[in-house]
Amino acid sequence: MLIVQKYGGTSVANTERIKAVASRVARYHAKGEKIVVVVSAMSGVTDNLIKLAKDIMPLPNEREMDVLLATGEQTTIALTAISLHALGVPAVSLTGAQAGIVTDGVHTKAKIKNITPKKIHELLAQGSVVIVAGFQGQTIEGQITTLGRGGSDLTAIALAAALKAGLCQIYTDVDGVYTADPRLVPGARKLEEISYDEMLELASLGAKVMQSRSVEFAKKFGVVFEVRSSLNEHPGTIVKEETQNMEDIVVRGVSLDKNQAKITLVAVPDKPGVAARVFKAIGDANINVDMIVQNISHGHPDPVAATDLSFTVDKPDLLKAQKVIDSLKPEIGFGRVIATDSIAKLSIVGVGMKSHTGVAGKLFETLAREGVNIDMISTSEIKVSVVIDLAKGEQALKAVHAAFLGS
Ligand code: ADP
Ligand code: ASP
Ligand code: MG
Repeated sequence: MLIVQKYGGTSVANTERIKAVASRVARYHAKGEKIVVVVSAMSGVTDNLIKLAKDIMPLPNEREMDVLLATGEQTTIALTAISLHALGVPAVSLTGAQAGIVTDGVHTKAKIKNITPKKIHELLAQGSVVIVAGFQGQTIEGQITTLGRGGSDLTAIALAAALKAGLCQIYTDVDGVYTADPRLVPGARKLEEISYDEMLELASLGAKVMQSRSVEFAKKFGVVFEVRSSLNEHPGTIVKEETQNMEDIVVRGVSLDKNQAKITLVAVPDKPGVAARVFKAIGDANINVDMIVQNISHGHPDPVAATDLSFTVDKPDLLKAQKVIDSLKPEIGFGRVIATDSIAKLSIVGVGMKSHTGVAGKLFETLAREGVNIDMISTSEIKVSVVIDLAKGEQALKAVHAAFLGS
């Protein structure tokens, strides 16, 4: 059987941990399995590299950021291969490019276009363990790219799909996917299984246990995967297509995204084409927008003629988004721009919401009881999200978890 195993930053945080990873891999290899190992940078390394660049300038060139960030994973692949050699196991490390991972040219959040795993197959056929650097690829022109924060998950899932792996295991520092981040909610429980759609919502709404794009990819290609701990042998959480009984549970999980920022354009002229102009420019800058709210303007003498337009972006994109908005001001002619990064997005997620009512009301009631003001709301068939004050985020998360999932 071909197995893809991915080890995240804390699982390879130091040489002791890397040696432990090598021992686990060696055990599977000894059983005669073909193993492809995807590793992240050692924990903290990517953050440090970003900090170094930002010490020099606030908005560094994105191509150079990719050249810089890709070094983190390159360190770990070599150390992992060396650890396997120390155990007498044949192993070869490959960068994303060497592994045949081809991406588009959107630096710092490139999308995988295709994978040609010729080299991986060759090495596996020779009996080697293959260690692939997560989070990176290259364009057809040979430019180094990275796949967005948490992108080693995507490398693993995409390789599992391309190699038609029999098993895809995502090893991390918790025992699986929980009903909420176990570091923030002590009463959170490990889930035995979760559907792609629920995992996708939780991931894109702040549960960083899986990168959301990797879950999207898994759903598209039907890659069943297990999230489990690299620190013990406990079975983890299986992420797979929705089954009928999954709908019996109304709320599967709760998440808190502290990585959001909000921009409000005050007194935007209320006429056709303005929102199109704003979001086209934001999109052209490759900035993802999540929630959008438009109301009658309080900052204009004639509220009928103007609206306030608020939207949320990822915190790291805030400066870039502000720049884009500033460049539109002469053309569109809005009033003030208010930007804040002291917001959080709290969400409840579950496929059971499709067939149960009263869920949003219960959420709002719980928040009201905690004295938490709701700034923005958005819903879909399987989730309700609210934007609230960052300072009250964790308190609200605990209260909402207790209300829906117990404490
Ligand atoms: P890795 O370095 O292995 O990729 P991450 O730090 O990216 O690990 O993701 C694991 C972390 O995700 C956990 O330590 C946990 O704090 C956090 N997390 C957030 N939400 C959840 C959740 N619902 N279930 C499990 N872990 C979660
Ligand atoms: N090292 C990258 C990051 O910290 C990718 C990953 O860990 O998945 O975002
Ligand atoms: Mg991660």
